[in-house]
Amino acid sequence: MPRQYLFATSTAEGLAMLAANPGARLIAGGTDLVIDLKEEKRQVNTLVDITRIPELKTISATGGQVILGAAVTHTMAATSPLIREKLPALAAAAAAVGSPQVRNVGTLAGNVVNAQPAADTAVALVALGAVAIILGPEGERRVPVAELYAGVGRSRVNPGREMITRFTVDLWGEGEASAFARLSPRRALSLPLLNVAVRVQAEGGRCTRARICVAPVAQQPLLCEEAATVLVGREPDADVIARAAAAASAAARPRDSLLRGSSTYRKEMTSVLVKRALSEAFFQATSRKTAIYGE
Ligand SMILES: Cc1cc2nc3c(=O)[nH]c(=O)nc-3n(C[C@H](O)[C@H](O)[C@H](O)COP(=O)(O)OP(=O)(O)OC[C@H]3O[C@@H](n4cnc5c(N)ncnc54)[C@H](O)[C@@H]3O)c2cc1C
Repeated sequence: MPRQYLFATSTAEGLAMLAANPGARLIAGGTDLVIDLKEEKRQVNTLVDITRIPELKTISATGGQVILGAAVTHTMAATSPLIREKLPALAAAAAAVGSPQVRNVGTLAGNVVNAQPAADTAVALVALGAVAIILGPEGERRVPVAELYAGVGRSRVNPGREMITRFTVDLWGEGEASAFARLSPRRALSLPLLNVAVRVQAEGGRCTRARICVAPVAQQPLLCEEAATVLVGREPDADVIARAAAAASAAARPRDSLLRGSSTYRKEMTSVLVKRALSEAFFQATSRKTAIYGE
């Protein structure tokens, strides 16, 4: 177990603490890391707590971007009027995490760096095309969240030497919307059986842009590019949405799991959830009076 617990009050101080203490690691809400430490999955001698760094806890919009501090909690993301208006898929994903206690301390960056394919807010960030700003000893690098996965539970961010400071999401503008759908066992405080986040834009009744992310159906949140291609340039009616959902289901490779159900079941449910999320997003994007569920 760690022998030192340090509080950083700035990003520079946090990085200096990591550099000065070999075997140190960042901790935010601790909802993943503390369990790993108890189960002795990680050897850490110093924890550097980043939750007292004010800039990591802010949410703002500027220059056509939404900027999310790395230590923004799920509760903050779920209740922020800015996120609810501009990035509703993220607000819905954050609201779906665990329990109020977990949401009150668990953070966006912790969800991403823990690198579980089904992590709810990470799936939404991938669908939204979020970019992580990562500060390390060599300076700052910017990497799309979708490219931060090195395998299940393995991130390309090293919390022993570097820190995600924020995420940026470019706003697409007029006619954009996003949505999130989730399948989980009743009364369970854990990762979902399936989750889907979509982002779309519509102009003149046709889809102009789309991103569809499904998990856990691969080693990392799966961006279904072929399914998005089905939508672009077309009127998003029930038939087109059903074809996009079928393409997403075809791309999904869920494993048979005693906990999460059979592969066949989850492929079928992928199609249902994608239809549901796309119908909601296009409804918002085109402000139709009636939803366009295809089932
Ligand atoms: C009961 C329970 C229920 C849960 N339910 C869900 C659920 O429904 N959906 C879901 O998605 N998750 C769920 N989780 C998992 C967890 O709450 C989330 O993954 C949470 O977002 C992790 O954030 P954290 O701040 O607690 O991370 P921590 O545990 O503090 O850290 C996780 C990892 O990220 C690293 N890290 C943290 N911040 C940074 C940073 N800024 N830069 C670089 N590295 C960093 C840490 O070093 C560590 O490796 C649940 C957990 C519990 C205990």
